[in-house]
Amino acid sequence: MAVAAGIDLGGTKIETRVFADDWSVLDTRRTATPDGYDALVAEVLDHLKWARTARSDIAVGVGSPGFVDRVTGTMTTANLPATGRPLPSDISEAFGAPVTFVNDCRAFTLSEAVLGAGQGARSVMGLVMGTGLAGGLAVNGVLLPDLNGIAGEYGHTPLSAEVVAKHNLPLLTCGCGRTGCVETLAAGPGIVRLAQHLGHDARDTRTIFTDPSCAPVLDVWAEIMGALIAALMATIDPDRIVLGGGVSNMPDVTGRLARATDQTLLRGSRSPEFRIAQGGPESGARGAALAALEASRG
Ligand SMILES: [Zn+2]
Repeated sequence: MAVAAGIDLGGTKIETRVFADDWSVLDTRRTATPDGYDALVAEVLDHLKWARTARSDIAVGVGSPGFVDRVTGTMTTANLPATGRPLPSDISEAFGAPVTFVNDCRAFTLSEAVLGAGQGARSVMGLVMGTGLAGGLAVNGVLLPDLNGIAGEYGHTPLSAEVVAKHNLPLLTCGCGRTGCVETLAAGPGIVRLAQHLGHDARDTRTIFTDPSCAPVLDVWAEIMGALIAALMATIDPDRIVLGGGVSNMPDVTGRLARATDQTLLRGSRSPEFRIAQGGPESGARGAALAALEASRG
């Protein structure tokens, strides 16, 4: 029986999956993301109506890049034509019922915490390493309540001053408008920038992870990430860190991060467990569906 549905709202495609009570996928619908705002609202509405054909009272959640201002209801997003627009309330209004909205990296984290590589851990930090660097925190199977919806934007915390000084790293302007964010040198494109700064002519992440001559680049990358994770341990101290995104598929990423974290953790404290995500392509929709189910239970 259909238990919930999730809409994965991406910059290029919108994907809806209907889940059975054992979380297997019953049905999937995929369409291209429209360019304009009104067309976007109409397209998401179509997906919501389609999900409701599986079951008329099914819980449906939307996982989306960006943040929703909790006071004004407007969105900020680099990947959708919705910045400054109240996308969640416009969709709920058109649909005639409240629709749960969750950031896509928080949806990934919830999906992994409840049904993936985070199962059995009390607190799970999701860390998606792709073109950006972001994630979320789930405690006892639910996302941490937060003020702005930005809990998990680790990529926009400062690079470790110690690592910057040691390797004379550049402080670059980030897409968020600030300078020296971790993401500028540690997400996928950031690793390529890091390699170039260190004198390597590598053009893509895979080359850096597989060409032995790039090993020093990976050592510095691991130091940057180790310092970030040590800072996260000193604030939220999760049991387990689940890695997702393209960079997590590179060789020995869990080993590199575990060793680097060990070297910089507060003395006397233990490293978290590092795991690779299990969810695959349905993670975003599954996390949005889980968030909707949780919201429907009040
Ligand atoms: Zn930033």
